Amino acid sequence: MGIVLKILITGGAGYIGSHFVKLLIENHVELFIIDNLSRGHQESIPKNVIFEKADINDNQKLNSIFKKYKPDSVVHFAALAYVGESVENPTKYYQNNVVGSFNLIKACSENEVENFIFSSTCSIYGNPRKIPIAENEPSNPINPYANTKFIIETILKDFESKYGMKSVSLRYFNAAGASFDGSIGESHNPETHLIPLVMETALGKRKDIWVFGNDYNTKDGTCIRDYIHVEDLAEAHFKALRYLQIGNESTIINLGTGNGNSVLEIIEMAKRISKKKIDYVIANRRQGDPAILVASNEKAKKLLSWEPKYSIDDILTTAWNWHSNPKF
Ligand code: UDP
Repeated sequence: MGIVLKILITGGAGYIGSHFVKLLIENHVELFIIDNLSRGHQESIPKNVIFEKADINDNQKLNSIFKKYKPDSVVHFAALAYVGESVENPTKYYQNNVVGSFNLIKACSENEVENFIFSSTCSIYGNPRKIPIAENEPSNPINPYANTKFIIETILKDFESKYGMKSVSLRYFNAAGASFDGSIGESHNPETHLIPLVMETALGKRKDIWVFGNDYNTKDGTCIRDYIHVEDLAEAHFKALRYLQIGNESTIINLGTGNGNSVLEIIEMAKRISKKKIDYVIANRRQGDPAILVASNEKAKKLLSWEPKYSIDDILTTAWNWHSNPKF
């Protein structure tokens, strides 16, 4: 990267965080991780990395960690990320994603952190009017999870005006796939995401996969999403840090491929890659699912000089390898 960084990664034991950690280590960047291990996996943390088991709700511990390690940049992955759970238990989501993130941002402002990269989400757009979705699409979060992310984007703007910390909020589309060397991958409990569930069905761990609705206004009636490889996401975080480090302004950037695949297409491709049968059942629509979410990634290409390297085939192949041989 050419510039010395000392990076605090929150949620570094989680799915996307651990892929980012792996990339930083490969690039010899100095980093340390905090994670409360409520959803992350200790096994995904490399042995030689500094790790503090800490919760972003624990102000005292956060402050002592900032004093001890003095990071200049923070990449904030730690969050709860299930839409359904956020509707069931908004308290938990506001406590963790809003109060916890606020504690972290406050600690940053008190400890001279210069750069902040925030894991945001395309669900901030709600039911978008235009596809592909550009960053100037109005924000219209329609569930507590999306609201928590939108609130943090807003806090980051307000804090910058007063304290000067710059930030990039990265609005992910559907993170998917696993590392190409098979060492880390997606392992959620409970699992609710399409691709892991499809792979578990191929492996015979589930009888079938439920397709949530086939009466949408799409080519085959099932929902279309923009699946982006987790290693592409990791690289975009790296480039977003560099973007800030060289003096650019705070911004919000979509991270997607610009391509969409339907639920039935994913199932068909997974059958081909796994060479297994995957039975599915057409079920009711899942509440709150927009028909189509596909990113415009023009801004990421322009500002970050980033573009996704991996295809949906790469996503499904690495996911299949991981789920066939998970390390945790
Ligand atoms: N989906 C499905 N069956 C499942 C899980 C997901 O049909 O068991 C659909 C879901 O309705 C959505 C797409 O697959 O259209 C991707 O869902 P996922 O939960 O993976 O990600 P989301 O788009 O909700 O972030």
